[in-house]
Amino acid sequence: MSSEELALFGGTKAVATEQGDLFTWPIITQEDEEAALDVLRKGAMSGIEVTEQFEADFRDWLGMDYALGFNNGTNALLAAMYGCGVGVGDEIICPSITYWASCTSAYSLGATVVFADIDPVTLCMDPKDIERCISERTKAIVVVHYVGHPAAMDEIMAIANKYQVKVIEDVSHAHGGIYKGKKLGTIGHVAGMSMMSGKALAVGEAGMLVTRDREIYERAIALGHYERYDQRIETKSLQPFIELPLGGYKFRMHQLSSAVGRVQLRHYDARHEQISLAMNYFWDLLEDVPGLRAHRPEKGSGIYMGGWYAARGHYVPEELGGLSITRFTEAVRAEGVEDCYPGCNIPLHTHLLNKTADVYSHGKPTRIATSHRDVRQLDSRLPVTEGISARLFTIPWFKHFRKSEIEQYANAYRKAALNYERLLESDQGNPSLLGGWNMFAKLKKKEA
Ligand SMILES: *Cc1c(COP(=O)(O)O)cnc(C)c1O
Repeated sequence: MSSEELALFGGTKAVATEQGDLFTWPIITQEDEEAALDVLRKGAMSGIEVTEQFEADFRDWLGMDYALGFNNGTNALLAAMYGCGVGVGDEIICPSITYWASCTSAYSLGATVVFADIDPVTLCMDPKDIERCISERTKAIVVVHYVGHPAAMDEIMAIANKYQVKVIEDVSHAHGGIYKGKKLGTIGHVAGMSMMSGKALAVGEAGMLVTRDREIYERAIALGHYERYDQRIETKSLQPFIELPLGGYKFRMHQLSSAVGRVQLRHYDARHEQISLAMNYFWDLLEDVPGLRAHRPEKGSGIYMGGWYAARGHYVPEELGGLSITRFTEAVRAEGVEDCYPGCNIPLHTHLLNKTADVYSHGKPTRIATSHRDVRQLDSRLPVTEGISARLFTIPWFKHFRKSEIEQYANAYRKAALNYERLLESDQGNPSLLGGWNMFAKLKKKEA
C-alpha cells in the first residue's frame, strides 16, 4: 500500500474522507451555551463570583491550594513571575523554543531573560544546560511543557532547590499531562497557563495561576486583582498597600470565559482521554517507518503527554537520504494533511525584541537595560535550539479516536517517508527560516 504513487506526482490521496468534526475544538454543547447565556442574562460579565467557582473547580482538579483566574495566560505568567519576586535587575531562565508569553513580560518587571537550550528528544528545557545560565541574580526558571511533552521536572527541581530559585511551570500546551504521578502545574512553586480557545483546555480568552504558596498567590493578587486586594491579605509586606493594584493592572477573567470554563473543565478529562488514545494510535501506526519518530514519553516511564497542543513529530533526515523537511511536509500535505508544516516556534533569542529593541526608553536594548551582564552573549550556545526546526514536523490533532480515519492520516506520512528517493529527485532543500510563532499563517502566506 505504501509503495503507491505519491499524490504529489498524481497518485491517489491517502486521506480520502472529509474531516468532519475530527479536529473541531473546543467541543461546544448546549451546556456551554446555557452557561454563557446565564452570565449574559444576569449581567454578570464582569465581577468575580463565577470566576471564583471556576477557580474552586480548577483547584480541586489539580489538588492545589490556590487558583487565580486571569484574562489570559500571558498575564497569569507575568503574575507568577511577580509572585516569585522577580524584579529590577533579576534574571529568569527560559527555553528559547516557546511562545513569547512564557518570558517576555519579565521585561515589564525590569528583569531579563537568559535562554537555556532544549533537550532534542523532549523538546523541553535541558536540565543539563541550566547551571550555565544561573547567576546570583537568577530568581526563577520558567519551564515549558512544550507541545504537550512534560519537561524533566525531577532534575529541574533539584537544580532549583540547590540554587534556591523558584520554578514556574508554563502549562499552556499540556493541560492534563502527568509526570511520575503528578499533574503538570503542581510540581513547581507556581504554574501559569493559557486557556485561549486554540489551546487544549479551551475556554476563550482566559488564563489560570495555581500554587500552594500563599505569598505567591497574594503577590499575584496584588499585581492586578484590586477587587481581592483587601483585608484578607495575610502577607505582611503587602498589607500596608491594600486597595489599589500594585502593578496598576486589571487582570480579572471575563465571566463568560469562567462560565464556559466550568463546563469545559467538567468534560476535559474524558475528552482528553479520547485525544490521547487517538494521538497514541497515530504514533503506534508509524513506529516502523524510517525517518519518523514519535514525540511522546517512553511507555512505562510514568510520564504522559498533556493536551497534545500543536503536537510535533521528530524527523530524522539521515534515514531518508537527507530529504529536507520542507519537501517531506509538502508531500504529506499533497496526501491531504492540510496542516503539515516543518519546524516549531522560531527561537526567541533570534527575534529583534531580544537583541536590540529599546521598549521602555532606557537608551539601551531592553534585554540588557537593567542587567549586570550582557545576557545576549549567552545566546551563542544554543545548538539544539538552533537546529531543531529542520528536524520537526506537525501532526494532526485528533479530537476523536476514530481508527479508520486516523489510519488514513498516518498513511499520508508513511507514504511520504517510504517514497523518499522519488522526493529527493526534486528536493530544493530548506529555506533559511523555518517555523514561526504564528507558523501556519506565515507559511501559508508564503505559499499563496
Ligand atoms: C498561548 C501561550 C501563552 C499565552 O497565553 P495567552 O492566553 O495567549 O495569553 C503562554 N505560553 C505558552 C507556551 C503559550 O503557548
